Amino acid sequence: MAAARLRSGLDGKIYLSRLRAMLAFDGQPLWFEALDDFTDSFVTVACPHCDAPVTIAVGDYGCYSSIRDWNLGDVHQVPLRPAVPHELTGTGRMLHESAVRDGQQRLAWGLTHLFGQAECPGCGSVFGIADEYAAANAPAPWDFARGHIKDAL
Ligand SMILES: [Zn+2]
Repeated sequence: MAAARLRSGLDGKIYLSRLRAMLAFDGQPLWFEALDDFTDSFVTVACPHCDAPVTIAVGDYGCYSSIRDWNLGDVHQVPLRPAVPHELTGTGRMLHESAVRDGQQRLAWGLTHLFGQAECPGCGSVFGIADEYAAANAPAPWDFARGHIKDAL
């Protein structure tokens, strides 16, 4: 039902809220929380190799990975490696296809980054952002009670 309410021509914010609602109904609270409008989005994932807390930024200020320093800001920025759309799988593919179909270019653009790869500024290893995010934020029944991902950072 929620999916049926997704259509082209919707305002970006309305579209996003409906897409998030669809994920919630779909039992995917993880991505429900991570989805954003990609104007100034951040998620933090642990590097799978050195365990450094890597900040992933997608938005107007750039698309990069960095180690956030509370005094210096995002230092050692490394450009993200966005996914090639036709190589997306699973949730990433579904979300991207919906966004493209309905003319939500910004969202589609952001999704290729969120479901793409990042290089750890600390050790230089390359990993899938979505994979690490999913591993660290494994869905739990109480996830819904927690606020939006931005509130948790
Ligand atoms: Zn690392």
